[in-house]
Amino acid sequence: MPTKKGRRTHIIKVYCAKCHALLYKYQKAGLGSLIKCYKDRIAEDYTRGDLKCPQCGETFAREAVYHGKPANKIIQGKVYVRH
Ligand SMILES: [Zn+2]
Repeated sequence: MPTKKGRRTHIIKVYCAKCHALLYKYQKAGLGSLIKCYKDRIAEDYTRGDLKCPQCGETFAREAVYHGKPANKIIQGKVYVRH
């Protein structure tokens, strides 16, 4: 389980690095780069749920499980975030 220190979350916007389409609004815990998106923390999903950019079709993540929770593992370099 996350420590109390890491519990604070903030909403970030996740964009496609290729075409700059907005992909997710995501409730991120802590600082640091985005490695994965837990599915239950995605506040708004602008994709079709297939882990591809809805605009350019680029695959930006892979299905994964972290700590028993389903997550999308971000492929590095495929997205960027704005706070
Ligand atoms: Zn795109």
